[in-house]
Parts: sequence; structure tokens; C-alpha cells
Amino acid sequence: MEFISNQKSEALLVYIYDDIEKKATGDAGHWWLKKTLRLHAKKLEQTFNVKLIILNGEAKKNIFDLVKKYKITSLIWNRLYSQQSIRRDTEIKKFFKDSSIQVDTFNSHLLNEPWEVQNNSGQYFKVFTPFWRAAYKVYLNKKFSYKKNVFIKPLRHNQKTDLSFFDNKNWYEKFDKHWSPGEDAALKKIDTYISSDIDKYEVNRNRPDFDQTSRISPHLRFGEISPRVIIEKIQDSKKMNNSINTYLSEIGWREFSYSLLYYSEDLSNKPINPKFNKFPWRNSKKDFTIWTKGETGIPLVDAAMKQIYEEGWMHNRLRMVVGSFLVKNLLLNWTLGENYFHKSLLDYDEASNAAGWQWIAGCGADASPYFRVFNPVLQSEKFDPQAHFILKYIPQLKIFNSTKTIFEPYLDENLLKNLVKDKKYFNPIVDLKDSRNRALEAYQQTKS
Ligand SMILES: Cc1cc2nc3c(=O)[nH]c(=O)nc-3n(C[C@H](O)[C@H](O)[C@H](O)COP(=O)(O)OP(=O)(O)OC[C@H]3O[C@@H](n4cnc5c(N)ncnc54)[C@H](O)[C@@H]3O)c2cc1C
Repeated sequence: MEFISNQKSEALLVYIYDDIEKKATGDAGHWWLKKTLRLHAKKLEQTFNVKLIILNGEAKKNIFDLVKKYKITSLIWNRLYSQQSIRRDTEIKKFFKDSSIQVDTFNSHLLNEPWEVQNNSGQYFKVFTPFWRAAYKVYLNKKFSYKKNVFIKPLRHNQKTDLSFFDNKNWYEKFDKHWSPGEDAALKKIDTYISSDIDKYEVNRNRPDFDQTSRISPHLRFGEISPRVIIEKIQDSKKMNNSINTYLSEIGWREFSYSLLYYSEDLSNKPINPKFNKFPWRNSKKDFTIWTKGETGIPLVDAAMKQIYEEGWMHNRLRMVVGSFLVKNLLLNWTLGENYFHKSLLDYDEASNAAGWQWIAGCGADASPYFRVFNPVLQSEKFDPQAHFILKYIPQLKIFNSTKTIFEPYLDENLLKNLVKDKKYFNPIVDLKDSRNRALEAYQQTKS
């Protein structure tokens, strides 16, 4: 979103959707983006009598046309952090500065700019705990309040607010059941969360069956709420306990991911650890498709893949479980999973998604060690002990009479046979133990 203003300090507010934005949004994310832009345009009109300009196409050209038409003297925007967007924005900045237009850029998306948090040797941190210790200190030393009043003097214009360039896909419809985009919804959600479930976050955050994380991620992704607002609200609540600290550190993981994004040329494709450049991944389109469809025959994995399809969101614990299953048990390249999440998640975020997948694959910064292969059966016992989550998404498994056989339907061959015959459930795609050993063997190669 950009402010562009003339000599009388009258401002135009502009959103430009170009190819870089398109890629950074993902497929499911377009549902959210369209809704949030519509809501934001309405709010700006009601609050400031400002008509938001929404444009599709190359950013520099669009800005150039507006600058010329409305005699603009100053441009303001919030910074982005992928190398692609940095290159684009740097070029635009230089172009307009060279034409004597004032250009100012700010940070609204993060607590700190990535370059503000460095280790003693002036390098970026590659390990989370010291990163967060330093980053939180840097942040606390800043004076920030979201409660300041904002005033915008509108520049009258005759541009269109046209959202017709966004596709409408049939599968978007189900998201309405689960989500309410928009700044107001985001603020309400975080207020409710801080006054209730956050106190149990430490224990409950790992339980997909409880579903008690804040679900604020798509709101953060689309800038409807800033992490600084979340922190200030937590500070205002005067709450101090382990759950609060853990919640804050999760916001810290988001910051850490952005630092990795900023300092990597291509976080979503290139392993941070170069030893993984020649990793012997298997090549199997068939297995990958089975994973995406949630037909692996491993119930926790399949239920999680149904959740992402149904809601455009997946619980964090399950992102780790399905990720580990893909890259370790199936030995398929982590970039396939990254790409599938890119398309399917409403909260798809180019920093957190790529960093999450690199963490799972063991090739990222401060990553999960290669020998950590999540066992989906043990994960079910620990984090979905009554199988409530699994049965919500795969109700046909109710015919099994114990949680043990719901977690491992192949233990009851006769019952499973009938389900498989009717195509209601599936034989396991791999043996968990054998595939774990195969992964460990392959990962040995990254050690040399
Ligand atoms: C393979 C994989 C892919 C992921 N892809 C994304 C993604 O595309 N977009 C995204 O926002 N998060 C991603 N995450 C991180 C995490 O799963 C989600 O942020 C979280 O599940 C969102 O739910 P919530 O808002 O209820 O989280 P809460 O538990 O309530 O946490 C609050 C906020 O902290 C941040 N956060 C929490 N955990 C993490 C984490 N591990 N890494 C970075 N930030 C975190 C998020 O902004 C989150 O909204 C991914 C994790 C993994 C393992």
C-alpha cells in the first residue's frame, strides 16, 4: 500500500498488484487479498473519505502515471523483504528520486528491520534463541504506539477501485465458513485471544484437537494487524506467564524467518545448508499426489491434509508432521511441499513457509536435525489422544473400536480391507519403520 501526495499534502492511497505480489500471495491467499482490499477500501472511505486506488500491472509504470496525472511530489510505502521485491522497490525509489520526487519507506510488517538485529560479529543470526533474545531487546528499546491518531487529507481523483482482475475459484467458497478477513476482525480476534486462550498456550498450542492457537497468521500475512500491535496489546494486558513468553517467541520465529528471507537469495528453493544441494531425493509424482490428497493411509497425515484443503490453514504441529512425512518417510524434495503450501495456505508467507520447510528438511538455519523423523502414530497418541481431530476429517475411521487402530488402521486388516474396497480409506503408502531407516541412510550423506 502506498501513499502518494502532492504539494498541498493531499494524499492518494494506492494498492498495486503486480507479478511479484501475485507470486507472494499464493492461490488460496487471493481469496483473502480480495476480501481484505474490499473491506479496507470501504473503511477508508467511511473514516477518511478516501477512495482507495487499486491497480493491476507493473508497479513503476502505474506510479509514474499517477505521479504525472496528479502532480505528485512525494511517495511513501512500507518495505518488503524478498530479494525480488527489494530489487523492484530499489529501482522504483532510484527512478523517482532521480526525478526529484521525495521517497520515504517504512517498516510496518516486522518488529525490527532484519539489519537491526546482528550478532557480535556483525552477522545475521543463524540460531533462533540468541536471535530472539537480541531482537526482543532491540524492539523494546523502540518507542512505538499504535494508538496515535492518523489523519489523511484526500486528493480527489477519478481512478477506479476495481477488483475484477482477481479470479473467483469455486473452491474459495468454503473459506467463508472458517474465516473473517479484515482489520476489525483481526483486532477483535487478538483481543479475545489475549483475554482468554493465550494463558493456556504453552500446553495447548500443540493440540490440533483443541484448536487453541490464535489463528492470527493470515491477518498478519495481509498486514491487517502488525506484530507490534499484538505485542503492545499483550503488554497492556499486564499478563506475564510462560504461555505469554512462548507466544511472544512464536512471533519471534516469524521475525527469524524474515531475517533468513532477507539474507538469502532464494529461501523457497535453495537450501541454506549447501550440503543439501545434491541430496538424493526420490522422484515420485504418484506419491506426491497421494500426499496432497490425504490418501497416504496414515490417519494423522491424511486428516491434516484434509484440514488444509477444507480451511486453507493447518495447525503448526501438523505442518511439522506432514512435512516430515513428505521429506523423510517419502523422501521427496521439501520444495514440493513448500510449493503445495504456497498454493493452499491462506496464511502463505514467503518467509515463514520457506523457513518452515527448510527447518523440517534439516537444511535450514537452526533446523530440525536429520535424525528427527516425526512418527505420526506417536504424534497422534500425544497430541490427538482421543482421535477427535482425525475423526473430524476422516469420520469413516469411526468403525475402528480403539484409538490404537484409528491411529494405525492397518493393524485391523479385515476392517481396513472393507474400507479400501469401498475406496473409503487406504493402505499405508509406506511402512513407517522402513521408510524412516531409508531416510536416515539418505541423510547420512549430508554429514560428510
Ligand atoms: C512447514 C511449515 C510451513 C509453515 N508455513 C507458514 C506460512 O506460510 N505462513 C505462516 O504464517 N506460518 C507458517 N508456518 C508457521 C506456523 O505453522 C504458523 O504460523 C501457525 O500455525 C499459524 O497459526 P496461528 O496463527 O494460530 O499461530 P500461533 O501459534 O497462535 O502463533 C502466533 C503467530 O506466531 C507466528 N508463528 C507461530 N509459529 C511460527 C513458526 N514456526 N514460524 C514462523 N512464525 C510462527 C505466526 O505469525 C503466528 O500467527 C509454517 C510452519 C511449518 C512447520
